[in-house]
Amino acid sequence: MSNTKLNILLEDILNNKINSYKNGKVANYIPALSKVKPDLAAAVMIDMSGESYKVGDWNYKYTIQSISKPLVLALAIMELGEEAVFKRVGVEPTGEEFNSINKLVGHPKPFNPMINAGAIAITSLIRENKSGNSFDIILKFFEKVFGNKDVEFDEEVYKSEKMTADRNRSLAYFLKDHRIISGDVEKSLDLYFKQCSFKVDTLDIARASAILANNGFDPINGNEVIPEKVASLVRSVMLTCGMYDRSGSFAIEVGIPAKSGVSGGILAPVKNRFGISVFGPSLDNSGNSVVGMNILRKLSKELSLHMI
Ligand code: GLU
Repeated sequence: MSNTKLNILLEDILNNKINSYKNGKVANYIPALSKVKPDLAAAVMIDMSGESYKVGDWNYKYTIQSISKPLVLALAIMELGEEAVFKRVGVEPTGEEFNSINKLVGHPKPFNPMINAGAIAITSLIRENKSGNSFDIILKFFEKVFGNKDVEFDEEVYKSEKMTADRNRSLAYFLKDHRIISGDVEKSLDLYFKQCSFKVDTLDIARASAILANNGFDPINGNEVIPEKVASLVRSVMLTCGMYDRSGSFAIEVGIPAKSGVSGGILAPVKNRFGISVFGPSLDNSGNSVVGMNILRKLSKELSLHMI
């Protein structure tokens, strides 16, 4: 398909799906997130030669939220190795809500790194080293995967989450009690809230997605950002656990590894083909962007992106 045809297809799909935002609701459990306009929508694709296709509100900035989870997972494996990471967190889907506490009872090792309990445990592993403090280590990694030296931080969303995070706090203290987290729990939580509050746009996330799709190499500048094996592992975890309690049906229907976040973004790498990212803040009752899921469904069909 030519570049122009792909742009037209993407534009068409976005225009067709944009009204489906009415079937969902913007997240409001973090009060600052509820201020967004529900009908924003964007899609970006980057192919493996580094060419990008951008439609809609692709440069609208939102907080990364749970899309940070696969990226910090990659970082933790790069910093500490697979064994140290998977000693604390498993790789099995839960079929439960992202912040559920149910499954931890009797099984304190979080099922996977895409749910909050697992992600908080992973974040707690990122420790100060010679290249800086834990916040700077995450920031520098995000700057690399977004190919963007000006990654900003949303103080308002960070504070809003920190003040209302009773569930995440209870997950983290439970994990500390069971020695999954060591060290200062409040410090780990603070870092987790901060990691979720970096501002990104759909192009930034598409760049990270393209790196994962291109086996860890940035298709735009050729740099190796993530080792190939880690990129493959992260894609696999996203395929089975990335779309909250819709991960199974999404994998069957769309067949693309993906991670969504409650601010409405989705990162969806298609191995050796495209880094895709979609955005629309109105969510279904599992927490996935309604417009984003619809765009991915249609793209998967039109471009035969289903991996199975
Ligand atoms: N910061 C959010 C939380 O921990 C992220 C949730 C999400 O995007 O799934 O509740």
